[in-house]
Amino acid sequence: MSTPRRLLARLRQLMAVGTVPLPELVRLVAEQLVAEVCSVYVVRPGEILELAATEGLRPEAVGRARLRVGEGIVGLAAAKGEALNLPDAQNHPAFAYRPETGEEPYASMLAVPVRRAGRTLGVIAVQNRQPRRYDPDEVEVLETVAMLLAELLAGAIVPDSAEEGLGSATPRRFAGICLVGGIAIGPIVRIGPAAAPRRLLADDPAAELARLDTAVKSMRATVDELIAARLPDGDAPREVLDAYRLIAADTGWLRRVSDAIRTGLSAEAGVHRVAGELRDKLRRVSDPYLRERLADIEDLVGRLLRALDGEAPERVPPGAILLARRLGPAELLYWHARGIGGVAVEEATAAGHAAIIARALGLPALGAARGAMEQAENGDPAVLDAEEGHLVLRPGPEVLGTYQREVRGRSARQARWATLRDRPAVTADGTPLSLMLNAGLALELGQLDATGADGIGLFRTEIAMLARGMVMDTAEQAAVYARVLDAAAGRPVVFRTLDLGGDKLLPGSPTPEEENPAMGWRSLRVGLDRPAVLRRQLRALLLASGGRPLTVMFPMVATTAEFRAARALLRAEAARIRPRPERLLVGTMLEVPALLFQLDTLLTEVDFVSIGTNDLMQFTFAADRGTPAIAGRYDLLSPAMLNLLEMLVERARATGRPISICGEAAGRPLEAITLAGLGITTLSMAAGSVLPVKEAMAGLDLPAFRAVLRLIRESDGAAPSLREPIAAWVREHGVPV
Ligand code: PEP
Ligand code: MG
Repeated sequence: MSTPRRLLARLRQLMAVGTVPLPELVRLVAEQLVAEVCSVYVVRPGEILELAATEGLRPEAVGRARLRVGEGIVGLAAAKGEALNLPDAQNHPAFAYRPETGEEPYASMLAVPVRRAGRTLGVIAVQNRQPRRYDPDEVEVLETVAMLLAELLAGAIVPDSAEEGLGSATPRRFAGICLVGGIAIGPIVRIGPAAAPRRLLADDPAAELARLDTAVKSMRATVDELIAARLPDGDAPREVLDAYRLIAADTGWLRRVSDAIRTGLSAEAGVHRVAGELRDKLRRVSDPYLRERLADIEDLVGRLLRALDGEAPERVPPGAILLARRLGPAELLYWHARGIGGVAVEEATAAGHAAIIARALGLPALGAARGAMEQAENGDPAVLDAEEGHLVLRPGPEVLGTYQREVRGRSARQARWATLRDRPAVTADGTPLSLMLNAGLALELGQLDATGADGIGLFRTEIAMLARGMVMDTAEQAAVYARVLDAAAGRPVVFRTLDLGGDKLLPGSPTPEEENPAMGWRSLRVGLDRPAVLRRQLRALLLASGGRPLTVMFPMVATTAEFRAARALLRAEAARIRPRPERLLVGTMLEVPALLFQLDTLLTEVDFVSIGTNDLMQFTFAADRGTPAIAGRYDLLSPAMLNLLEMLVERARATGRPISICGEAAGRPLEAITLAGLGITTLSMAAGSVLPVKEAMAGLDLPAFRAVLRLIRESDGAAPSLREPIAAWVREHGVPV
């Protein structure tokens, strides 16, 4: 029998008749690993690690030898949450000498943290006189023992009662970032790391492997079923889910589970162990897209544990708020199908998978709500206000009442907006407008009909690639773009070429060390420096058009020369493709202020200009669009921006070039009205904004507003913002903003 099997078999015998006393555990481990020392340190309140049992060090040091987390090799393993394997521990810079232990003679050390549900409970360490590096099998054995130990210690750990008492009744507010706007009121459904398996060890690995096999098949079947059925219209954001399915089919992590089972663990414990490793990896990975992939795996692990448990699908009260540390796409679909009304995720980014799916489902979602998991219990009443960016646990009656009124008001508004869908977008005085959709995933195409938008003013092509985790090949891209054109059924579609880089990184893409990635090697700059990818995309767009009209625009253009170079690539591809698009329009986004000073040349060359206010604002005001501390500091409705936009409108009009806006500002009714007042009547926005903007515009007397806007602008050219006087006039005149 191999060492791990022998050790685990012995532990199993002991656990069958009760728990394993720590002195017995360290004795067994030392014996099986042929170590002179084996010690267990346990975390005590105040981040202190205390020697709780030892074989080989002085017995009188037990309960006395103490280290801070982060201090010494043991403390370092606890702080880092990873194993340290050191042939010459005493000369390691972190080594901390504790004379009471008598550990001078021991040169080598292997210290493994004891972790459970993301928390470090202690450290188990072995030491030898001989300088040696412990081999991978030995590390594996000690890690398995650490997992068992975590369960033993968890049973023994008394929670901090003072904090628990505080947490269970008082309201708590957690700030986060808005992933998808909206409000939800309901009880919390908290999905944490899967509960520890009841049975850790098993004596028949073959039977456990067979159970694993059945559970894997069932997991794969539910993933396929989810992907096929859980999204509205059966039209899944395939780009996300295909990546997820690939991971479900991947055998690498499952092989690790099988290996763990072969050492004597139960199937649940094997899965649990691999899940623990993944969680630890997740904590260390900083690349957001890689973290997203690992979150997918963790999602599958949870699903696998449920399949092993044979558990019935959970019921949730309608409108419940799902709270999770991390969330994969299938998990979100699973809970959505059970009727949740909102979701808060401790670790999620706006570009992450959960956010992409939540957006596609129109589910209010809050990210980065750190600390909520610790304080929430299943069934706690809660309010999720994704727009304001917070989650309130156990709200008081006043807060609850206010939100209940707000939600009632919203449903009335939704019903009113729905009646506007098939009406043309026009102001009260009859000025026609073009309200377009911003989209990036196939799933969102249904919104064209749902909102009655006039077309797609911005199709962000990089979103599908980010969701898929790679740049698709020409045929795959062409299929996506053709679906977009099919769904638009003759309505205009503006395809924006890849806008990758900055915060939109593909996994594995080299991340250059840049101080200001938003101003770095991103977007069209990459496309022009490495034209193969851009040409491939342009070819795919031309193929997708299949003779239909095609409109392409380039992002982050900073000079007329860059626009020319990009257009030359498009023309070169177009020259080789048959059938040629019936009409090929080529435009630029206006996001970089330098372009404002080249309008003479630019406007004679482009077919249209679309203003990306998100980036144009950040570069004009030198104010990062993602920094919360300056989020409200600069306003689109400021004299500077209104002057800039007016100048642009005049110049575009003089050359007869169409001008539109596709930044977030276009979707906010007050801003949209002001932009119309400046003469910009083509606005492209997120789906949720189309009907509210249409409603506001329908109540607007544009000529009267235009005159007032001029007066307001002339009245105070030095004001930081003209929002208040504009809003006051608009409200006085009954325009719903
Ligand atoms: C913008 O910058 O306004 C824009 C629409 O592009 P993105 O938000 O994708 O950068
Ligand atoms: Mg932009």
